[in-house]
Amino acid sequence: MTLIVAYTHPFSRGSIHITSPDPRVPPAIQPDYLSNSADLDILSRAVDFTLRLYETPPLKDIIIAPVAPPFSKSDSDSEKLNKFSCEVISTVHHPVGTASMLPREDGGVVDHDLLVYGTANLRVIDCSIMPLLISCNIVTLAYAIGEKGSDIIKKANGD
Ligand SMILES: Cc1cc2nc3c(=O)[nH]c(=O)nc-3n(C[C@H](O)[C@H](O)[C@H](O)COP(=O)(O)OP(=O)(O)OC[C@H]3O[C@@H](n4cnc5c(N)ncnc54)[C@H](O)[C@@H]3O)c2cc1C
Repeated sequence: MTLIVAYTHPFSRGSIHITSPDPRVPPAIQPDYLSNSADLDILSRAVDFTLRLYETPPLKDIIIAPVAPPFSKSDSDSEKLNKFSCEVISTVHHPVGTASMLPREDGGVVDHDLLVYGTANLRVIDCSIMPLLISCNIVTLAYAIGEKGSDIIKKANGD
C-alpha cells in the first residue's frame, strides 16, 4: 500500500530565463524546490500524518511492516522526516506562474486581458499565466485559458 503526499501550494519559487536571442536554444530552468524552508517543514508534517494513518485502524490491522519510510511514527523525529522527504521528493509536472497574471510591481507578466505589460498585442495563453497552483490536475485549466484567450483576441479584433 502506498500513500503519496501531493503538496500543491508550495512557497518556494523557481525561475526561467532565456539564455540566447535564438528561440530554439533551451531556457535556463531553475525549479528551486524547497528554497523556502516552510515547504520542507510542511512536507515532513504531511509525511508524519500519513504515518499516523498507517498506525490507525483499519489500516493498522492490514500492515505487516513499513517499507518506506523505514520507520514508524513512534520512532520518527523531525530530522528523520526531513531526511526522508528530501530523499523521495519528486515533481508531478505542474509548473505554472512563469508569466503570471499579477500586478506588474508584484512580478506579473500579463494583465487581466492576457496582454504582456508594455506591449500592444502580445498575449500569453497557457498555464504560465496562473499565478498560483490549483489543488488538482491543471490541464483542464489550460483548456479554459485557451477558450478565454481566444474570446479575448476575437473581442480585441472586433469579432
Ligand atoms: C509527464 C507529465 C504528466 C502530466 N500529467 C498530467 C495529468 O495527468 N493531468 C493534468 O491535468 N496535467 C498533467 N500534466 C501537466 C499538463 O500536461 C501541462 O500543465 C499542460 O500541458 C500545460 O499546457 P500549456 O499549454 O501551458 O503548455 P504545453 O502543453 O507545454 O505547450 C507548450 C507548447 O509550446 C511549444 N513551444 C515551446 N517553445 C516554443 C517556441 N520557441 N516556439 C514555438 N512553440 C514552442 C511546445 O512545443 C508546446 O507545444 C502533465 C505534464 C507532464 C510533463
